[in-house]
Amino acid sequence: MKWKRVIVWFRNDLRLHDHEALVRAIEHGLEVIPVYVLDNRQFGETSFGFPKTGPYRTKFLLESLTQLRSRLKSVGSDLIVRKGLPEEIIPEIANQYGAGGVYAHKEVTEEELKVEKALEKALFKSGIDVELVWGSTLYHLADLPMPVRSLPEIFTHFRKEVEKFAPVRSTFPTPESIPTPYIENPGHIPSVEDMGMSLVEIDTRAVLDFKGGEIEALERLQTYFWEEDRLREYKETRNGLLGQGYSSKFSPWLALGCISPRHIYKEVKRYEKMRKKNSSTYWLIFELIWRDYFRFVAKRYGNLLFLEGGIKGEYGNWQVDWARFEQWKDGMTGIPFIDANMRELKETGFMSNRGRQNVASFLVKDLRVDWRMGAEWFESTLLDYDVCSNWGNWNYVAGIGNDPRENRYFNVISQAKRYDAQGDYVRHWLPELESLPNGYVHEPYEMYPSELKSYGVSLGGNYPHPIINQAKSARTYARKN
Ligand code: FAD
Repeated sequence: MKWKRVIVWFRNDLRLHDHEALVRAIEHGLEVIPVYVLDNRQFGETSFGFPKTGPYRTKFLLESLTQLRSRLKSVGSDLIVRKGLPEEIIPEIANQYGAGGVYAHKEVTEEELKVEKALEKALFKSGIDVELVWGSTLYHLADLPMPVRSLPEIFTHFRKEVEKFAPVRSTFPTPESIPTPYIENPGHIPSVEDMGMSLVEIDTRAVLDFKGGEIEALERLQTYFWEEDRLREYKETRNGLLGQGYSSKFSPWLALGCISPRHIYKEVKRYEKMRKKNSSTYWLIFELIWRDYFRFVAKRYGNLLFLEGGIKGEYGNWQVDWARFEQWKDGMTGIPFIDANMRELKETGFMSNRGRQNVASFLVKDLRVDWRMGAEWFESTLLDYDVCSNWGNWNYVAGIGNDPRENRYFNVISQAKRYDAQGDYVRHWLPELESLPNGYVHEPYEMYPSELKSYGVSLGGNYPHPIINQAKSARTYARKN
């Protein structure tokens, strides 16, 4: 059946390429009304009281919406933007325009599922159908070689199964025209200030000047794969810490769906044909499978992902300790590698994967702070926050997730020495250490007060004492290993 009009409700899929909900809507409606709702709840507070969406990600989202609207306009359509609750706003728009159906991509976690249910309920009264399609992963849910309830506990088992038995579906074509009725009041896309936040200038030391939007995402791929030819050595560089080129930096665009993982896959395959096929080209796909895995884990385990005991239901030796947490979040722990990473996050909204593993492990295993404080801080500050990847990775690092290794511990001092051998990264974010020789640059501050003085280093902050024991144990551990 073809309805006169249908709504496409954009969520974390802010693109026109490979957009199944949009393609289906075009097939099922004579006219399509694209809508985005800035959900008030996403701009509230987390349970520990942090802003749920901080200013970096808000800015990136608003840029992505601006670009989506101009992309839609270029194919004869528009984007209605409203602020409020989707389950209230979408039925109003549906009634106003006489829409017979709503198409959208499906989400998997609690808050998003509640909105889906509330919308379905609100529309049911008016006899309007909601069609939700799966669209955020590389492997389609329906193609998994196992039911989600039997998802392997270990990533490697999952990866081997999907690589062997599941296809990666082709991408959906980008629509060349979208018939849309005249939209009288498409709505103003607010500024960061309109959203009640102060505008943030991203630090010039950031790895990349991230700008939201589909075109920006596709350009980033063009630069990373084709112009700079970085895919060729991704596996060797991906543990880097400084600069735009060590890894793809696709994550903020993937999180909002400005780029689809299947499009990235298609481009990797094209690269392999035209330039080079090697372990690096494979490794980028490998990482996208990690991303898929955490989404399916979230689907399988539901709210366990957010509970203290995580998906294993086990409890560690941690507590809600605000003093230690504040030191960590402000980059004032006295461990240079941790502080540099946390300051990068605070000043830019981004941190490398190597950095994330270390700071998360340090918070939970050394400072013994409740891991959910860290996960919520990441949720608040990360430019690329993705509910499944974030909470799945925190479960993993806290030892209550899908890590097959018992008691994995990151020795942050030896990690720092290995991945930042010359101390360039630490000096980049902690300029107060500029004059310190390499031999000291990764040592906990408390260990060498007289050397600090003799090299004229002034820390300029009130570095704490309570964590000295952790610092000492980390150092002793580093020596032993
Ligand atoms: P690349 O190395 O270029 O990888 C390509 C893509 O693969 C990434 O964009 C990402 O989509 C995916 N990917 C790579 N590593 C992982 C991983 N470990 N888990 C899931 N997907 C992965 N990633 C997010 O996208 N959002 C988050 O909220 C998030 N929170 C994290 C929290 C912790 C504690 C940790 C340890 C990791 C987290 N990650 C998260 C995963 C990873 O750190 C980032 O995806 C990666 O650093 C982004 O940089 P990139 O795009 O250059 O990655």
